Amino acid sequence: MPIKSLLILISLLLFTQNIAAKEYKWSNKLTFLGFLKKHGIPQKTYYKMHKEDKELIQEIRAGQSYSINRKKGKITTINIPVSDELMLQLKNSKKGYTYKYVEIPYDLIERTISIKMKYGFKKDLYRATKTWYYGKELEEVYSKSIPFNKMRKGDRIILFYTQRYRNNKPYTSPQIDACLIEIKGKPFYGFLMDNEKYYDSLGRQYKRTYTTRFIRPVPNMKRISSRFTHRRYHPIHKRYRPHLGIDYAARSGSRIVASSKGKVVFKGWKGGYGRTIEIQHANGLKTLYAHMRGYAKGVNRGTYVGQGKTIGYVGTSGRSTGPHLHFGLYKKGRAINPARYVSKPSAKTIKLKGKAYNKLRKLVRHYRPQFRETRARKNSIIKKESKKCLNCFKKLPPRKK
Ligand SMILES: [Zn+2]
Repeated sequence: MPIKSLLILISLLLFTQNIAAKEYKWSNKLTFLGFLKKHGIPQKTYYKMHKEDKELIQEIRAGQSYSINRKKGKITTINIPVSDELMLQLKNSKKGYTYKYVEIPYDLIERTISIKMKYGFKKDLYRATKTWYYGKELEEVYSKSIPFNKMRKGDRIILFYTQRYRNNKPYTSPQIDACLIEIKGKPFYGFLMDNEKYYDSLGRQYKRTYTTRFIRPVPNMKRISSRFTHRRYHPIHKRYRPHLGIDYAARSGSRIVASSKGKVVFKGWKGGYGRTIEIQHANGLKTLYAHMRGYAKGVNRGTYVGQGKTIGYVGTSGRSTGPHLHFGLYKKGRAINPARYVSKPSAKTIKLKGKAYNKLRKLVRHYRPQFRETRARKNSIIKKESKKCLNCFKKLPPRKK
């Protein structure tokens, strides 16, 4: 081996020994204070935190992997994902530990699925992708409001979707950005706006025609004081802080009811969430009720509760702001927007107007040639390609110092 490459190898080895990132798994029973203790980080790092940040820490999932960077054996930074979007970053400097929430970097790959129906749209999608995910997602896109059962052989299914990658591994579920379903040759388009709702090419929202198994958890709420968002830019604190649930403001002591039937899997104090109950439902869905003043009699861990059953009372535990219920919904452990499940079927058609409508039309114009091109191809194909999409998460505003 030439001397030069040997030297490079040696210096590389030295380099990797000096600075090393190590992956850890957040174990099932690990608390944040326990985590700090485990790595020799002062407990005040937690006690100094803002209340809302303490609340967010409760979102760290068991089994979540996090990384610790060390230099010469000393911790420099720790990254712990708290949602699909943000991670808690602890930094160690001469002044001690500081923390902030920062964006999780990821790569975005856009892909296309295009198939002609043969056996049924769900079955065909399954055969092409080996997962039922896309079929189920499509039903959600159209709110089950189009006659899927009238599809016939040769009808098209086209999906443009994006998949995120972290460290070359798929991360979070794929997101359908635009889609087309043909029913007896008639096209039904779906376009995702602002990562939330799907509209047809004229800006009409697909009407929900079915009732989900979830109801509003505070029958006598005053108002919704905070909605669900993966990223909320806090103008005063000048930083990002997601809100992974819906806050229902209500009088202290108002009834909190089980949003759907299920089994109580957690009851007790949960850090920034204060008095909390968690209920496990069917299909991997779980609801969380936080800041309770107290629990209803007879509701314990392991208790089965029916929908609408009183489980506790609105309070402010764990937080100092006014009485409210923080209501979270989790699908296989990931926080999702409860509004998607709790809202009632609407009678009137929602149609985009003004700026929002123009934005949608821009999307339509972006995808139209792609639909045309994809449709012109004969065979059932899954085209894979990597490029930027119009509908990706918006770039965040620059962080002001
Ligand atoms: Zn909240």
